[in-house]
Amino acid sequence: MLLISCPNCGPRDETEFHYGGQAHIAYPENPNDLTDREWAEYLFYRENTKGTFAERWVHSTGCRQWFNMLRDTVSYDIHSIYAMGQPRPDTTGEYGQAGGAGLAPGAPTTSTAAAAPTSSEGV
Ligand SMILES: [Zn+2]
Repeated sequence: MLLISCPNCGPRDETEFHYGGQAHIAYPENPNDLTDREWAEYLFYRENTKGTFAERWVHSTGCRQWFNMLRDTVSYDIHSIYAMGQPRPDTTGEYGQAGGAGLAPGAPTTSTAAAAPTSSEGV
């Protein structure tokens, strides 16, 4: 269970909040100029970060205000909560680059494990 500090109401249980997806997705300046693919990418393509991730939340059973949160998607640690419209705080440090492709030790196995059952002796 997360304890989320609403900027207006203070610490509250996560059940009072709703997740709003990735933060800092700018609406296209001229949507009519976009191709169908570009529009679809704007609507549906989001990062799937392992580590610190900027996301939107709304305090739906409280003040009903939206805010941004920097949260670690692995440990669920909340690094920062900041207002809508503010730039993402700098988070260089303990987790390296956000969205890095490096795998942590103990990360899901690679194709070598998946290839094992296909060998003729294993069956
Ligand atoms: Zn609130």
